[in-house]
This record gives sequence, C-alpha cells and structure tokens, in this order.
Amino acid sequence: MKESNFKIAALVVVLSLALLVAVEAIWAVQTYRNMRSSYELQIESILEEAAWQYATPSINDNSPINIGNIARFDALVSEGLRTSGLTTEYRVEVLSTTDTEPVVLMAMGNIEPESSVITAEKPIFPLILRLTVSDPHNSILGDMRRILILQLISVAVLIFAFLYLLHTLFRAKEIERIRRDLTHNITHELKTPIAAAQAATEALHTMPNIANDPTSRNEYINISLGELRRLSSMVEEILRTSTEEFSTAELRIEECNVESIVHEVCSSLNLRYSTREITWNIDIDDGCAVVADGFHIRGIISAVVDNAIKYSDDRPMINIGAMTRNGNTYIIIEDQGIGIPNSERKRIFDKFYRITKGDKYSTSGYGLGLFYVQSIVRRHHGSISVESTLGKGSRFTIKLPRYGW
Ligand code: ADP
Repeated sequence: MKESNFKIAALVVVLSLALLVAVEAIWAVQTYRNMRSSYELQIESILEEAAWQYATPSINDNSPINIGNIARFDALVSEGLRTSGLTTEYRVEVLSTTDTEPVVLMAMGNIEPESSVITAEKPIFPLILRLTVSDPHNSILGDMRRILILQLISVAVLIFAFLYLLHTLFRAKEIERIRRDLTHNITHELKTPIAAAQAATEALHTMPNIANDPTSRNEYINISLGELRRLSSMVEEILRTSTEEFSTAELRIEECNVESIVHEVCSSLNLRYSTREITWNIDIDDGCAVVADGFHIRGIISAVVDNAIKYSDDRPMINIGAMTRNGNTYIIIEDQGIGIPNSERKRIFDKFYRITKGDKYSTSGYGLGLFYVQSIVRRHHGSISVESTLGKGSRFTIKLPRYGW
C-alpha cells in the first residue's frame, strides 16, 4: 500500500471513530435533555391540574379560596404524581402575593428546601401555589442506564474493530517495508561477491600477463573461489533461515557435544571474518552435552556468535560458556559490542526485525537469525534470553533441557 493511501486510510479510521463517539455523546445529551424537559412538563401539568381542582370550589360558590386547606392541595398533588407514575419526594407551598415579595403562608411535604430540586409555580390570585420535587437527574440516568451501557459496549466493540483494522494496516505496512529492505539487503549482499568473482575471472580471461603468471593466476583463482564460497554460504544461510522448514521438519535427535560444536563454529567464523581480530574466551564444562538436533544446535550457536561478531567493533571479544545445571544445559554467548536498547529486546526475535539506525542498517543482515534461533530453541522445549547494556555489550543465554527428548 502506498504511504499516502495508508495515511488516508488511517485518517479515515480515526475520523470515523471520533465521529461515532461524538454522535453517541450528542445523542446521550439530547436524550437526557428531552427526558428532563418532559419530566418538568409533567410536573407543571400535575400542578396545573391540582391548582385547578384546588380552586374549583371557590369558582363554583364564588367564595374566596380556602387558603387554610393545604392538606387538600397536598392530596391533589399526591394523586397527580401517583397517576403519572412519578415516585418523587415533594413539597407543596401556598404563598401570598399581597406583599411586595411572595410570603410562604403554609407548607407541607418531605423535601428539604435546600436539596437539589425543581420547582413549578401556579399563580391563583391572590395566592401562588408552588410544587417542589426532587431533581430528576439520578432517576433519568437510572432510566437511561441500560441503553447507555449497551451503547458503550457497541461503541467499545466498534472502537476495538477499528483499532484492530488500523493495527492490521500498520502491520501490513511494516511487512511491506521489511520485504523491501530484505530484497534490498539480499541483493546488495549478493552483488558484492558476485562482482568480485566476476572481476577476478574476467582478469584471468582477458589479461594474458595474469593468466600466464602462475603466482598471479593462483591469486586470482583464490579470490574467485573465496568469493564463490562466501556466496554459497550466504545463500545457504538465507535458505536455512528464510524457509520455514525448520519449524516443521522432523528433528534428528542425537547426543551433541557442546564443546566440539562451539569449536567448529568458532573455526568457521574465524575463516569468514578473517579480517577481524577476534578474541575467543571459551569456558565449557567437561562433557557438557545436550540431546538435540545437532545440525540446528550448530546453526543456532553459529547465528548468535555471528551476531556477537557483527555487532562488535573490528576486534571483537567473545566469551562462550556452557554448563549443565539441574537437567538443563545453558549456553552463554557474550560480546562487548554495541548492545541492544531495552525497548528492542523482545522484538529482535521477531521475523525480519532489525534495529534501525535512522533509516539505514549499518550492519548487513536479514533479521532472520534470532527468529530462527528462537524457533529452534522452542522446538527443543528450551528458551533464550538476552541481557544487554547499550554501548557495552550483550549476553545471550540459551537454555535447553538436557534430555528434552
Ligand atoms: P540480523 O543480524 O540479520 O539483522 P538477527 O535476527 O540475527 O538479524 O538479529 C536481529 C537484530 O538484533 C539485529 O538486526 C541487531 O540489531 C540485533 N542484535 C542481535 N544480536 C546482537 C548483538 N549481539 N549485539 C547487538 N545487537 C544485536
């Protein structure tokens, strides 16, 4: 996927999420307001009805309103609330408007005047009838609770789905980048020995003075051979680690002597890194062995030691130790190289993962070595761990059950 398309897709996902949350929030607020105003209307209409009935006897017999009968007003309100299905505490008051400020003449009810309330008033000259009820906030929220919870759950599910989609897009982009880097790396690494072998062979072919001089001829043939060997071992390594066969192919279990494997690996790496001055400190318990697939045990030790050299300076100092404790064999490979940042320690075992320095990889590789190592170690029911100090070095510990098979 193109970078710009990816950005647009990510933006659309984020905007849709924000829109969804905003719509839900607006809906919730609007519903709350509607319920509240409908409640207030209900209270006003109950008061209206009660006031009408309260005043009716006076209208009929033309006598003044019986202001002493607050119990009747209370009974009318109580009846109104009951028939409307409202269960709220309330207070009724009769106020006189003959003074400049209305004065409470009588009051009845169980609500505290200072508590959270809503109030409705109905003037019936020379009185004001007032009804005060508890604020409906909590009861409205209680009524909305079930639907709110359902909405929260559906929004959470949608957010999760969107984020998962975003994660998948990111992952796809990362894999795309890794694939590009891998192709670039492999091409770059293969080109160098091919070019060197080609140049040496062409020189032999086109320059008679080199072809006819036995010393020069041998030198050029050796260059060509060396480069072809390098090429062959690189191709072998790519095939070994990039084909997934190692994770499924049958293991050939045998008794493996760790010391001889380590010595074999070191000699082979000494040849490969003939230009580096490697110092080896090898300390392996006598008879240290593991029952495992010898080919792969050699492969994983080689991969970790290879990294120890690659990620050190020109004079790598490599310590290799091995011992058996409580039925487990531990192989420890230590270097004094560049180290691994804390944040990357888990990810270095991921397939194709490489630690980048800015945008360029300073050391060649495919990000497959440690993935291969971890897969093989797991297939042997073992584990691999790493301790590292940035700029000081790393220490990889491979733990394999002595008799895992
Ligand atoms: P590769 O070495 O081919 O890149 P690996 O899977 O072997 O791939 O290693 C993954 C990454 O872990 C490397 O790119 C490197 O950044 C880091 N790494 C591995 N071993 C070491 C080490 N001994 N010291 C520092 N960094 C290391």
